[in-house]
Amino acid sequence: MAAFKRTLFIIFVPVIIFFSTKQLVADDNWQLQDTPAEMSDAEEIGFGNQVDEYIRRQFSLEDDPDFNKAVNNIVQKVVAVSDRNTLPFTCTILQSFSINAFSAPGGHIYLTYGLLIFARTEDEVAGIIGHEVAHASLRHASKLYYEIMEINSRHEEELQSSMNALLLTTHLEEFEKDADVKGVLYAQKAGFNPDGLLNFLERHLDFMIHRGLFSMASSGFTGTVVARLNHLRKYLSSLEKNNN
Ligand SMILES: [Zn+2]
Repeated sequence: MAAFKRTLFIIFVPVIIFFSTKQLVADDNWQLQDTPAEMSDAEEIGFGNQVDEYIRRQFSLEDDPDFNKAVNNIVQKVVAVSDRNTLPFTCTILQSFSINAFSAPGGHIYLTYGLLIFARTEDEVAGIIGHEVAHASLRHASKLYYEIMEINSRHEEELQSSMNALLLTTHLEEFEKDADVKGVLYAQKAGFNPDGLLNFLERHLDFMIHRGLFSMASSGFTGTVVARLNHLRKYLSSLEKNNN
């Protein structure tokens, strides 16, 4: 379970690490608003490039040109039908056998080699990519950024990392569910089977349980994953009804 939790946390961890190294600049104009402030595309791209640099130092890259071409082809199809097609999306394949996908601000998407081997169809990969593009469309990184800055401006340094971790935990489930739904819609609009993401996630959960990476009975976190899958199932069946 711990391993799985860590895997999922990687989604936002590079972003958090990066943010926490930034010096906070006092900003008198900043206040909590109903609508969170948004970064401009240029700001987000600048940020994202720095996070990308950090990630590229942490991993070896899979540079097989055919593999990269196939994946980036799916990315471009999904991005074209998304709500954020002004960002220069790219997908980088990381040389890792763990099964993982995550994104950085500014349109950087990362898939592990292990994930691509585990995926059975292009529809599944498109579902994963749709989910990552949706994180960008929903401006999740920028929302997290402003909330972290807000926490850091109001609390002593010793409290900041635990408050940031709490923020991450409370947002993780909500962000994942929202990105699943929007991602599936993008995958479908781009011509892929919308069931791809659910098929992948269900098989991944089975795989983790069979490998003993967490036990069904003892894990509150498994409940979170199951809730996410149920949310996605419900959405997919409503999609089906609307299409009939
Ligand atoms: Zn996600």
